[in-house]
Amino acid sequence: MTDVKKRFQQIHHEISTSVSAAQREPQTVQLLAVSKTWPADALREVAALGQRQFGENYLQEALDKIEALADLNLEWHFIGPIQSNKTRDIAGHFDWVQSLDREKIARRLHEHRPDSLAPLNVCIQINIDEEDSKSGTSADNLLTLADYIASLDKLCLRGLMVIPAPKQSVEEEKASFSRAYELFQQLRQKYPQVDTLSMGMSSDMSTAIACGSTMVRIGTALFGQRDKR
Ligand SMILES: *Cc1c(COP(=O)(O)O)cnc(C)c1O
Repeated sequence: MTDVKKRFQQIHHEISTSVSAAQREPQTVQLLAVSKTWPADALREVAALGQRQFGENYLQEALDKIEALADLNLEWHFIGPIQSNKTRDIAGHFDWVQSLDREKIARRLHEHRPDSLAPLNVCIQINIDEEDSKSGTSADNLLTLADYIASLDKLCLRGLMVIPAPKQSVEEEKASFSRAYELFQQLRQKYPQVDTLSMGMSSDMSTAIACGSTMVRIGTALFGQRDKR
């Protein structure tokens, strides 16, 4: 068995163990394979194991891989910070954007989404720990931004994405994840199509699942350590 296959199986095992420990229904947590910095061949190997959803942070690198892997019918999620001059390419080539955090970007993604494609699925990124340096909107602004997104018919609001600040303990991790889960519930009450709470990465996926995550974004634990950029 290859290393990637072993790691892929380990991740699925950890997901299903965490789901049942949390007394949640099976198959309620999806795996997003975060493939930034990895070449198309590495993604192809993971796709051959049955993985369809891939997350990318850097546009040009992602566009090259989307083209190289066009034969595979993969689902592409943009998860990096978005500059407004990149919205045309993002709207034209991705299935999801998880890092939407302001009205201007929402409007531009809507304007640039080709008519030939289904509405672009979007998650609002929340700056859950209110860090100065982080992308994401504040919790206070969530419903205002959600209302605006809901008024744009080329966008489909699917949920929330969070990247918490590094924490000293599992208890502290849980506090951030639980706040995100509460916001997710509020959003779902107003917009019933909302079904995605994207939280949890290689180091904290079990805790995120315990707190209600529906999608974990896994890079290192699947592909291995990335080169420092
Ligand atoms: C890189 C990245 C991940 C994956 O992180 P790992 O620790 O490698 O699993 C998840 N989410 C976002 C937004 C990322 O940029």
